[in-house]
Amino acid sequence: MGPKRALITGVTGQDGAYLSKFLLDQGYEVHGLLRRSASADVINARLKWIGVADAITLHDGNLTDLSGLIRVLEAVRPAEVYNLAAQSFVKSSWQQPILTGTVTGLGATNMLEAVRIVCPDARFYQASSSEMYGLIQEPVQSETTPFYPRSPYAAAKLYAHWMTVNYRESFGLHASSGILFNHESPLRGIEFVTRKITDGVARIKLGLEKKLALGNLDAKRDWGHARDYVKAMWLMLQQDKPDDYVVATGRTTSVRDFCALAFSHVGLRMEDHVTVDERYLRPAEVDVLLGNGTKAKEKLGWKAETTLEELVAEMVEADLARLKRHEHL
Ligand code: NDP
Ligand code: GDP
Repeated sequence: MGPKRALITGVTGQDGAYLSKFLLDQGYEVHGLLRRSASADVINARLKWIGVADAITLHDGNLTDLSGLIRVLEAVRPAEVYNLAAQSFVKSSWQQPILTGTVTGLGATNMLEAVRIVCPDARFYQASSSEMYGLIQEPVQSETTPFYPRSPYAAAKLYAHWMTVNYRESFGLHASSGILFNHESPLRGIEFVTRKITDGVARIKLGLEKKLALGNLDAKRDWGHARDYVKAMWLMLQQDKPDDYVVATGRTTSVRDFCALAFSHVGLRMEDHVTVDERYLRPAEVDVLLGNGTKAKEKLGWKAETTLEELVAEMVEADLARLKRHEHL
């Protein structure tokens, strides 16, 4: 028997990079779905940054193209499938609601269908999101908290979540859904608030910029590190029975406090540099998210290992280093 084989969709994203590294370290043969791009030279920048670009096999495909997904699964025959691909930026989802529904929502069904048709014994992970709680119905959100999506992105994720549950119950697929709260890293997309802040702080520290324009500073998120969170994805697929799990740190912090931490890391004060710009406000806001990760702790033996302070320091340092080397990501 050779090494265990995994297929990751969304392999070029933040979590795809950390999960690839984690699975390779576990001895897996890792395959990734790559949507074709005219910028082939930069598309695998995160995989290069984390040092695994040459160790994984990439296959052309798109979540919206079922026949292509079937062909990739037939070629790879994976034991585990991690469906991480999505239009993942909440703010863009109001500008592109149909694309978001097609990729983030129906795309997951395409992947479930492809697995059901080609390799129904493969274990399946769906990247669900705390955004599904939206207008929170309980102060601390667990697997039993009712959902109330507040964006086209969250509505699409909720559909994908229920389809994952449905394929488990209807067809007996080993399909699990991880309801992951926000997780960040030096590989986070630049448009998300944490990375926008750490990149902005690094630019101001190096004298490249003077100001950083943000939106709602009062929003609160339960922020963890992507490196820790991909381990929870894998643990879900190692269980005898598929299930749904909240993955969170259990601590919530405002954008303002995250920002203050990042500026103070380089000896600056946010009051001197941050402005509020209405362009970054949203048509409907998720004011606060705070997860209860008890089930993941008890059943998976998982808990967050990186503190918010460590996360902020790592992200600011990575952005400083990147800018000094004139690199972009
Ligand atoms: P990213 O935005 O960094 O990565 C998204 C990935 O999906 C990229 O590889 C992107 O490819 C790919 N993709 C987008 N559209 C398609 C398509 N039509 N066909 C194939 N691939 C496509 O997301 P993260 O790594 O941060 O998140 C991973 C998953 O987890 C996402 O589904 C996200 O919604 C979800 N999630 C993330 C959370 C977080 O805090 N990070 C929290 C909860 C859930 P390309 O590089 O070509 O753009
Ligand atoms: P999300 O939780 O998936 O939407 O992740 P984001 O990082 O995009 O946003 C987290 C929170 O930060 C949201 O409540 C935003 O309204 C808030 N926020 C405040 N200013 C900004 C900004 O300039 N950019 C982004 N992306 N979010 C901001």
